Amino acid sequence: MTNRIEIQKMEVAKIIEEVRGLVSNARSKGSKIGLVPTMGSLHVGHISLIEAAAKDCDFVVVSIFVNPTQFGPGEDFEKYPRPLEDDLQICRKARIDVVFAPEPEQMYSTENVTWVNVEKLTEPLCGRSRPKHFRGVTTVCAKLFNIVAPDAAYFGQKDGQQAIVIKRMVADLNMPLEIVICPTVRESNGLAVSSRNQYLTAQQKKDAANIYKSLKTCRRLIDAGTTETRQIIAEMQKILQQIPSGQIEYVSIVDAESLESVEKIAGKVLAAVAVKIGPARLIDNILVDAGK
Ligand code: AMP
Repeated sequence: MTNRIEIQKMEVAKIIEEVRGLVSNARSKGSKIGLVPTMGSLHVGHISLIEAAAKDCDFVVVSIFVNPTQFGPGEDFEKYPRPLEDDLQICRKARIDVVFAPEPEQMYSTENVTWVNVEKLTEPLCGRSRPKHFRGVTTVCAKLFNIVAPDAAYFGQKDGQQAIVIKRMVADLNMPLEIVICPTVRESNGLAVSSRNQYLTAQQKKDAANIYKSLKTCRRLIDAGTTETRQIIAEMQKILQQIPSGQIEYVSIVDAESLESVEKIAGKVLAAVAVKIGPARLIDNILVDAGK
């Protein structure tokens, strides 16, 4: 922490006014405020964001909220893990200042008729199979930014499309905060750490390593000068098809800013994959700069 003089006890706020009061008190002392929005079930990926926030900021708020509006019908909203006590322990250890853990009624006290919707960028990739997902994400993030009023908010590259969408929302709506994107934290076999990995058996976790393997192959081919997207995607699919019981939802290479498909690789691209393995829908991505 850059400006912290005394170590104070972590506060757990469930009410909007409570978190606002704590933040405005910190701000009045000149603290830089960092926010890490999460859905809980915290793991080393989340901890890396918390550490980045703690390094840059004087006062760190972690929000823990399984946001109902970003789940579609038949998705895992009900069974999404909610180990709040364990999460609070992790936050205490990380010396977080405030955990904001509202009940759904606190965040959506009336029927929601106001939405923040980022167009275009939310249509491809995950937007195809989850049509209202990003509308839920951007709306809850806008609400959290209004509640906490952070100077900076920390997100993971793991959800690459989400990172791009949120950055664009903040830019388009002139929201006065910085969005910091932190690298994806992986298991030793390359599998991106995710709360949804708990849904996998040990064997499925092993098989799921092929997701990152396919992304590494993409990077290798681009680095070697391959420019035909179709050819690269075919190689990636071959690797993903080795996942028994894996159902490929998409394998895409898109422009890293517009998220539009590219036929020939040039400049910065996002290679992104979504695969369903058993009960878990897993996503992963890498950014590759072909101009390098
Ligand atoms: P979630 O709780 O899944 O909504 O994730 C909260 C934040 O943690 C999001 O910004 C995610 O991108 C980020 N995150 C999740 N998994 C990872 C990971 N393996 N590495 C880095 N960031 C992550």
